[in-house]
Amino acid sequence: MSSNQNDVVFFDENGLRTDGRKPDEIRPMKIKIGVLSRANGSCYLEWGANKVLAAVYGPREAHPKRTQRAGQAIIRYRYNMQSFSVEDRARPGPSRRSSEISKVSREAFEPVIISDAYPKAAIDIFVEVLQADAGTRTAAINAASLALVDAGIPIRGLVSACAVGKVGGKIVLDLNKPEDNYGEADLPIAMTEDGKITLVQMDGNLSPSEFEEAMELVQKGCRQVLEIQKAALMEKFAANIDFDETVA
Ligand code: ADP
Repeated sequence: MSSNQNDVVFFDENGLRTDGRKPDEIRPMKIKIGVLSRANGSCYLEWGANKVLAAVYGPREAHPKRTQRAGQAIIRYRYNMQSFSVEDRARPGPSRRSSEISKVSREAFEPVIISDAYPKAAIDIFVEVLQADAGTRTAAINAASLALVDAGIPIRGLVSACAVGKVGGKIVLDLNKPEDNYGEADLPIAMTEDGKITLVQMDGNLSPSEFEEAMELVQKGCRQVLEIQKAALMEKFAANIDFDETVA
């Protein structure tokens, strides 16, 4: 969030945003499931100009052994931003930011993964950000969710993520890069299919009533994302289902 936010024009005379979207509109999303043959599950996802690749390995025996848990699988999540993914160059390797994103993203999945089905195992989720344009953690979660399904990991439902924020005094969905840079607040969330919030973060300031408005709008955003995720799953897997119309 920048101090020169007052100089930036976020809306045109029709109330549309710098990229032509309405305040409650998410960026276009493209999804391809099962793009890596050596991972158990994978997903490539574009959201606006963000491009991310998620790979899931496991369940497999957890190493080192001291990390194993007797009654359940451990879940590991690694978010990584490629150095070429941003305008200048991101410093390669782990950072405070990537460690934080990895931690909160893992926690966003823990309630939905049926981990007690696999004692002593590890389920590894890796996400590589290939191109970043604000909203990479939410794009990564959406891709990881589908990669988990592709890997056949038992889950209670999909996790869908979206950000909401405040720019030019208005609450808007799914901030793009200028909105993220110069806006007043950015609030990424993740939600389960049955509406439980599994991640909330906030950068910037919102009043309690703005926060309520933002939470309401972002849940609508997550439901839009969920529909896109489900459509991608249908496209990938429905072709293999032999629907028997004679069965009532
Ligand atoms: P998110 O990508 O989840 O919105 P941030 O709010 O931390 O996460 O980052 C917003 C955007 O800032 C990123 O999507 C990316 O475009 C840019 N960004 C993040 N980290 C770096 C970095 N180390 N170098 C350059 N740009 C970065």
